[in-house]
Amino acid sequence: MRLKHIKLAGFKSFVDPTTVAFEQQMTAIVGPNGCGKSNIIDAVRWVLGESSAKNLRGEAMTDVIFNGAASRKPIGQASVELVFDNAQGKIQGQMADRSQVSVRRLVNREGTNSYFLNGSKCRRKDISEIFLGTGLGPRSYAIIEQGTISRLIESKPQELRIFIEEAAGISKYKERRKETENR
Ligand code: ATP
Ligand code: MG
Repeated sequence: MRLKHIKLAGFKSFVDPTTVAFEQQMTAIVGPNGCGKSNIIDAVRWVLGESSAKNLRGEAMTDVIFNGAASRKPIGQASVELVFDNAQGKIQGQMADRSQVSVRRLVNREGTNSYFLNGSKCRRKDISEIFLGTGLGPRSYAIIEQGTISRLIESKPQELRIFIEEAAGISKYKERRKETENR
C-alpha cells in the first residue's frame, strides 16, 4: 500500500488547493522552518480520524482551518484527501477490491466533520476499519515522530501490546470481536 498523493485545501497553511505527489522514489520533504512540512503530517493524521487537537498542534479542532495571513482572509473550511495505491490489496473491508482508495475529511467553522471513501460519504469508523491491521491509523506506528521512540521504550506492557497487536495484524480481529460482543 502506497500513499500516491495528498490534496490539501484550506488546511493550516495550505490555503489554496495543493497536491503533494509522492513518486516511487520519494524519500523526504525538505524546506525552511515554518514552510508547512509538519502540517502535511498533521493532514495525514487528521484524515485518518485524529480527534485530539493537541495531537495536531492546535487548541481546538477547527484550528486546522486556514486562519488568515497578512494578505489573506481566513476561510470557511478545510479539506484533505489521501489517495492510496491498493494494488496489493492491503486495504480491508468494503474497499478491499479497489486498486485505488481515496479517503477525504472535511471540516467547517461550526466544527462539522464529513468523511468520504472514494467520493461517497461515510462514517469516521468506516475509515478506521479499512486501515485496521495495515499499520496506518491516527496513532499507529506508520507515523514516527520526535518522541515516539522514547514513548515506545517507556510505555507500559499494556500499551506496548497495542503496537505489537497492530503489527501482527491481530487488532482487526479484536475490534470485530468487541463489536460482536456489544451487539
Ligand atoms: P519546522 O522546520 O520548523 O519544523 P515546518 O515546515 O514543519 O517547520 P509547520 O509547522 O508545518 O512548519 O508550519 C507552520 C506554519 O503553518 C506556521 O507559519 C503557521 O503560522 C502556519 N499555520 C498553522 N496553522 C495554521 C492555520 N490554521 N492557518 C494559517 N496558517 C497556519
Ligand atoms: Mg516541523
